[in-house]
Amino acid sequence: MLKSYGRKTVLSIAGATVTCLVVLLVIAQHQRVEVDGMQNEREIGLRSLQSLREQGTDYVAGQDTTVSRSPGNGESEIKKGFSAYFSKLTRGRREAEKPTLSVSAATNAAPVEDITADDIFIAVKTTKKFHKSRLDLLLDTWISRNMKQTYIFTDGEDEELKKKIGSHAINTNCSAAHSRQALSCKMAVEYDKFIESGKKWFCHVDDDNYVNVRSLVKLLSNYPHTQDMYIGKPSLDRPIEATERLGDNKMRPVNFWFATGGAGFCVSRGLALKMSPWASGGHFMNTAEKIRLPDDCTIGYIIESVLGVPLTRSNLFHSHLENLQQVSRAELHKQVTLSYGMFENKRNIISMKGAFPIEEDPSRFKSVHCLFYPDTPWCPPQVAY
Ligand code: UDP
Ligand code: MN
Repeated sequence: MLKSYGRKTVLSIAGATVTCLVVLLVIAQHQRVEVDGMQNEREIGLRSLQSLREQGTDYVAGQDTTVSRSPGNGESEIKKGFSAYFSKLTRGRREAEKPTLSVSAATNAAPVEDITADDIFIAVKTTKKFHKSRLDLLLDTWISRNMKQTYIFTDGEDEELKKKIGSHAINTNCSAAHSRQALSCKMAVEYDKFIESGKKWFCHVDDDNYVNVRSLVKLLSNYPHTQDMYIGKPSLDRPIEATERLGDNKMRPVNFWFATGGAGFCVSRGLALKMSPWASGGHFMNTAEKIRLPDDCTIGYIIESVLGVPLTRSNLFHSHLENLQQVSRAELHKQVTLSYGMFENKRNIISMKGAFPIEEDPSRFKSVHCLFYPDTPWCPPQVAY
C-alpha cells in the first residue's frame, strides 16, 4: 500500500515536471519569436532611416560612389519600415533601457586616466547657412559652458561668430557644398588642428548635436589616450562595403565599421598620430577619394581597414537617424551626445517635459541644458520636470 502510494507520488511528480518543462519550452519559443520579430522590425526601421539619408542628401546620390549604405528598398517599403519602427516605441524604449553595449557598462568602472574637459578637443562641423539657425542654439547652450575646448569648423567669415568664440571659429575655406569633397575638406582641417592642439582626445560632432561634456569626460577617462581608441556609434547594422582604388585601375573590396559623424565620435591621440600618413595635410582628401566615401566613413576606413583598430561601440552617442524618443528620461544625464531632426514631417526629438514648451524649444536642447546646468541665468527656477 505504502509502496504503491509512493509510486503514485513519484509518477505524479514526474508528470508535473514534464508538464512544467513543456510549458516552459512553449514560453521560451514564443519569446524567441517575439525577440526575432522585434529585431527584424528594428532592422527594417534602421535600414529605412539609412535609405532616407541616402535619398535625402546629395553627398552620396548622383556621385560616382561605390558605397552601399543600405539594401535597395522601394519607397513604399521604406515608409512601411518607418511606421513599423516608430509604432514600436514602447518596446524600443524597453530595449534601449537595457545596458547592451560594453562602453556604457564601463562608465561605472574606476577611471583609467584622470582627464578634464581641457584634455578634449571638440570639433563642431558647420556651414555658413546654419550659423544662425543651428549654431547659435549650441553657443547658447552646451558650448557656452565649454568655450575653451570647442572649435567651430565652418566655410565662411562671420564677424558675429568671431565675437562670440574668437579664434575658435575656424574658416576652413572649404566649399560650402554638402558634397563628399567639401565635407572631407573640413574633416581634414579638424584633424590637423587637433594634432596642432596637443590635446589628448579628438571628438567630432555635427551642428545638430548637444554634447554633454561631463559625461564625455567620464567616458573617455575609462581609456588611456595613448592607446588606440576609436569610440562612437555605427549607423549601420553591419560593416560598410566599399571598393578601394589601388591605382593602375585595380580595385579591392573592403569591409569595415565606422562611427556615424552625426552622432559624434572620438579618437585618442595615440591613434590619431598613427593616422597621420592617411589623414594629415592633403592626405585625408586623397584617402577619401580612394574609397569615394564621405568623411565619417573615411575615418572608419583609415582606422579599421588600414590600421586594423576596431571601433569601440557606445550607446551614449545619438544621431537623428535613430529614434530619439528611445532615450529614456532617467538615463538622459549619462548620454554623451544628443540630436534632433525631422522625420515624416514629425519631430524626432528627445522626449521630455522640460523647462520650455515645444514651440520655444523645438530641439529640446534648451530644456536639456537647463536640466544639466540649472544655474544658467535664462533657465526658469528649477522645478521637477
Ligand atoms: N554641412 C556642411 N555643409 C553643407 C551642409 C551641411 O558642412 O553644405 C554640415 C552641417 O552643418 C552638419 C553636417 O554637415 O554639421 C550634417 O548636415 P545635416 O545635419 O544637414 O545632414 P545629415 O547628414 O545629418 O542628414
Ligand atoms: Mn544632421
